[in-house]
Amino acid sequence: MCKLCQTKKVIVEYTGIGAVFHPCPNCRSGTDLTPVIRKLEQMLIAGKARLNGHD
Ligand SMILES: [Zn+2]
Repeated sequence: MCKLCQTKKVIVEYTGIGAVFHPCPNCRSGTDLTPVIRKLEQMLIAGKARLNGHD
């Protein structure tokens, strides 16, 4: 098990403007992470949209 990414193979970095996704440097094994990152980004966008809807 990768301790760096908790087997998600993606590192999530939280910044002042939101979250940024990076492929895990420990798990770079030729796996295409694009679908995983896309999914996470969609979840993030959906969460933001929900927050904005309340304002
Ligand atoms: Zn990893």
